[in-house]
Amino acid sequence: MKVLVINCGSSSLKYQVLEMEDSSLLAKGLVERIGIEGSVLKHEKPGMDKFVLETPMENHKDAIGHVLAALTDGNHGVLKSMDEIGAVGHRVVHAGEKYASSVLITDAVIAALEECTDLAPLHNPPNLLGIRACQELMPDTPMVGVFDTAFHQTMPAEAYTYAIPYEYYEKYRVRRYGFHGTSHKYVAERAAAMLGKKKEEVSVVTCHLGNGASVAAVKNGVCIDTSMGLTPLEGLVMGTRCGDIDPAIIFYLAEKEGLDMKGVNNVLNKKSGVLGISGVSSDFRDIEEAANGGNKRAALALEVFAHKVKFYIGAYLAELNGADAIVFTAGLGENSISMRESICAEMENLGIKLDREKNKVRGKETVISAEDSKIKLLLIPTNEELMIARDTAEIVAAL
Ligand code: ADP
Repeated sequence: MKVLVINCGSSSLKYQVLEMEDSSLLAKGLVERIGIEGSVLKHEKPGMDKFVLETPMENHKDAIGHVLAALTDGNHGVLKSMDEIGAVGHRVVHAGEKYASSVLITDAVIAALEECTDLAPLHNPPNLLGIRACQELMPDTPMVGVFDTAFHQTMPAEAYTYAIPYEYYEKYRVRRYGFHGTSHKYVAERAAAMLGKKKEEVSVVTCHLGNGASVAAVKNGVCIDTSMGLTPLEGLVMGTRCGDIDPAIIFYLAEKEGLDMKGVNNVLNKKSGVLGISGVSSDFRDIEEAANGGNKRAALALEVFAHKVKFYIGAYLAELNGADAIVFTAGLGENSISMRESICAEMENLGIKLDREKNKVRGKETVISAEDSKIKLLLIPTNEELMIARDTAEIVAAL
């Protein structure tokens, strides 16, 4: 079966087509600036030059129409017709407490996801737009929803309950949900495979370190805690997001700076994180360069980031009562040799020992710990699209 994977943002859309027989990638691409001037589609077929189409795309349906045309094009396409697509897998960010695994999309599922929009106002609406656009353009093709929150639904109440009046949970479902679930699940399963064990036999701490960053504690294949919360603002320091802070800072800043709630929200989501500390950039490559050039605030931003990851690793090792492995993934986790070094420094007494030579590697599935490290350190490139495609194919094959 061939599966089309769609990941819709507010003005962008990423897609991949995978052949599930051998999990191979047939084509992938990106549409940017949907609904704004300068809409562009960048389509890649392995072994061919990138196909770039600059044309106005007013909405997601327009954009998906162009994606389908690119996929069936005689030259750079990979399909004779769209009938070859057996199913579409959609990434959806927030499914609240509704779904603990991927599901076939029905009207009832769409209604349930609409109810979760309040919890992810930036993400769920474009995800839903993508679903509707595909349904209109491919009415006979089954669609599956794969949720960022689903993998974390196994967390016990003591991990997801906030210490605020319980009625807010009852009334508004205010609790920890966690995100990046598809990535945490994928790397936890790969970690088990790398250790030659079943996923049910392995406990791991998974560190998804990208622009958005989160850590998860996975016990015998099941998530028991994660660092993001009601929204993706909690937990680790991120590119522009603050992560854990004293909530009293919100009121203090509002008063001192004369900010309203929207203003503070903007500061904590868009102007904080390593960008806020360094004043240089939200991109870790720029910050590493600045720090190497002697910029003290850039160096501090990297130290604060590493400190927080170390903090969560310690917390989750305690929650898991020890682990078989710690996994690094996503843009920074896969590529930054120096960040992995900083995070893993001075944890020998916990049985964590990085091999500095083996660590000199990027974007490749490999062991980076020393032979005598009790807890293995693993580098595992994430592959959320493959995970979405697998869930999609499995659900549709069982129909
Ligand atoms: P997201 O999907 O959340 O946008 P990614 O997983 O793509 O994030 O990660 C993006 C981050 O990874 C960027 O901040 C980037 O600087 C960082 N990154 C990518 N490559 C490197 C590298 N070689 N060295 C350091 N950081 C890197």
